[in-house]
Amino acid sequence: MSRPAFSVAVYCGSRTGVTAAFAQAAAAIGHWIGSHGGQLVYGGGTSGLMGVVADATLQAGGRVVGVIPTSLVERELAHRGCTELHVVDTMHERKRMMAERADAFVALPGGIGTLEEIFEVWTWRQLGYHDKPIGLLNVAGYYDALLAFLDHSVRQQFMAPALMGLVHTATNAQQLLPALVQAAGLSDGPGLSAI
Ligand code: AMP
Repeated sequence: MSRPAFSVAVYCGSRTGVTAAFAQAAAAIGHWIGSHGGQLVYGGGTSGLMGVVADATLQAGGRVVGVIPTSLVERELAHRGCTELHVVDTMHERKRMMAERADAFVALPGGIGTLEEIFEVWTWRQLGYHDKPIGLLNVAGYYDALLAFLDHSVRQQFMAPALMGLVHTATNAQQLLPALVQAAGLSDGPGLSAI
């Protein structure tokens, strides 16, 4: 495959969660990336939603870059089918490589690992370390409580209101990914309305 049209880092759970809607959303994200000539950058595992998004991207013809620390190769079951699988020494190296290889960042439902990763790129954006778009896929209301808490934080004046505007939120891949690709100043392969 030639150079990808865009590259999206996806942070998501190493579990699949309680409803099938989460895995369906992960598959839809991967399908959209792969069928629009894109590249997925992710944590390199086969467990949970991580494996679902990677498999869906590959099945749709996309490139998949997995980045996994040596210590997690067994625990998160490294995905040997990745287009590129990078086994790195530390978690910091994983996060740095993922951030460098991505044009945009997306969080799907996940646990504290997912939250840590999306908050880190959000804080980096706040500090001006990068200007890449960030998205939150709010599947089945999973992030409603978090968004309500963040509004609370704004009201309590610990967060500037403009910070919330740095994150694109949507309930499905078809809304979120075109917005992020456009915000990154890129275009997709077959056309944004092709799916
Ligand atoms: P979780 O959302 O907790 O299921 O974790 C999702 C992914 O985040 C997994 O690949 C974890 O290895 C990764 N992760 C866990 N802790 C961290 C961390 N401190 N920084 C970056 N990634 C992490």
